[in-house]
Amino acid sequence: MRLPPDIAGLVIRRRNRLTGAILSVYRASDAGMSDDPEFPWAAVCETHGAIVLNATRRLAEQAMQFPEWCSDCTEKLP
Ligand SMILES: [Zn+2]
Repeated sequence: MRLPPDIAGLVIRRRNRLTGAILSVYRASDAGMSDDPEFPWAAVCETHGAIVLNATRRLAEQAMQFPEWCSDCTEKLP
């Protein structure tokens, strides 16, 4: 999947294999989601509109892979 070039702060966007939802990682400040310097990385469930902030990009990518923080995705997780 090619990234749309005009989405501020977007780093990664993928369809989650477990839930079928589209999930993304953003730089939270660039995306206008948060300016908290301790949690600068946002994982977002685009399909359900859930957001979770993370301290590192690695944690945000892990959150993207296992979206237990999205209540709609959680119903489909094993
Ligand atoms: Zn979701």
